[in-house]
Amino acid sequence: MARRVLRQDIIKSRAFYDPASLSPSEELHYLQWVASKTNTLVTGSKCSCQCLFCFRKYYPKESKIFYLPEVKLGQLRRIFPYLRKDRAIRIGMFGNIMDGDFFDHDQAMPILESLRQRFPQTELVINSSRGTNLNKPAIRNMADYKNILLRLQFVSANKKNRDMLVKRPSTDTEITSVLGWLRKYQLPFEIELVAIPHLLGWKDIERTFFFLDDYAPVRIKVYLFSFTKYYIKELTFSNNKKLLREFYSLVNKVSNKIGTRIDPFPRPVSKGDVQPDLLRVKQIRRTYKGRILFLVSQMAYPAIKKHISDTDGIKVKMAKNLFFGGNISVAGLLTAEDYLQAAGKEEFDVLVVSSKPFNYAGYDLKGDHKRLLKQRLGKKVLYI
Ligand code: SF4
Repeated sequence: MARRVLRQDIIKSRAFYDPASLSPSEELHYLQWVASKTNTLVTGSKCSCQCLFCFRKYYPKESKIFYLPEVKLGQLRRIFPYLRKDRAIRIGMFGNIMDGDFFDHDQAMPILESLRQRFPQTELVINSSRGTNLNKPAIRNMADYKNILLRLQFVSANKKNRDMLVKRPSTDTEITSVLGWLRKYQLPFEIELVAIPHLLGWKDIERTFFFLDDYAPVRIKVYLFSFTKYYIKELTFSNNKKLLREFYSLVNKVSNKIGTRIDPFPRPVSKGDVQPDLLRVKQIRRTYKGRILFLVSQMAYPAIKKHISDTDGIKVKMAKNLFFGGNISVAGLLTAEDYLQAAGKEEFDVLVVSSKPFNYAGYDLKGDHKRLLKQRLGKKVLYI
């Protein structure tokens, strides 16, 4: 199958990343570009659940995150040629497109069938579903398609807690039945467990691990609940460090007792994780003789600070996620403005920051271009 080439002039224009200005043909171009870059098929942001903690209600409204209406099968077929058959095809969201539930798409099963016809051997990974609209025949069909991995979101083994946090459509089957059919038809699935200890307590989360283990998922990815500064007070917590420690301790304890692998997120940042950044900044040190200011995310700061000292001529400073706020602490959700705030009145000659907050065309989620850093600071800026 010949892969198509996308027009770079369109991709690099600002309008390409500004959803409000996309015409239907540009939108298709955008989705083709996403497919060619990430092997992801984006089908839309539709979701029929109502989760108490859903990010959609609590993100900065001035950000460039957008709701994508359902993309019809006819359009999706025009995206297929940009997907690669030699690596897993993900069905889900990308970058600044809001997450949805694939099975809320009116044509979910025909899309899968069509993908399977076009890519008979390729692994299909269905990201982040709450299991809405899933029933026995659908799961049996998917198992027949072979080489499909389903990522299923979950919150608690306790039905009362589930009902409090996640309102599923009233026509939906109980999620426990969905789990039962997944086990019966041996459709591989991963669980994405949102751990909300300040509302549910650690005991509930511990019970949930044991409960899920009985259904034999491929693994459980457990995410400590994260929130922006726009979340209502009842959903937030203040002692992030203590909660993180308790989170890792629970994961370690349960991992020794159940057969299913558990992967916690955020992961504790080790020297290995930051090694590429350390090497890169030390390389920069050898090339540039002036004072270097290295701005790092809150998450990576302790591990990086441990291995670079001011005596190396590199000042390491933490950049806080002020735009999103809350307990968000990762590099990918920083903005150019956050970096400017962190640079403050520091004196330096070269600024080093992560390239993660900036997309292919150089824009962050606030819609600012990375060139803003050089313009405002008047210094050399390097991205690692
Ligand atoms: S399933 Fe996801 S997108 Fe849908 S309401 Fe819940 S958190 Fe939001």
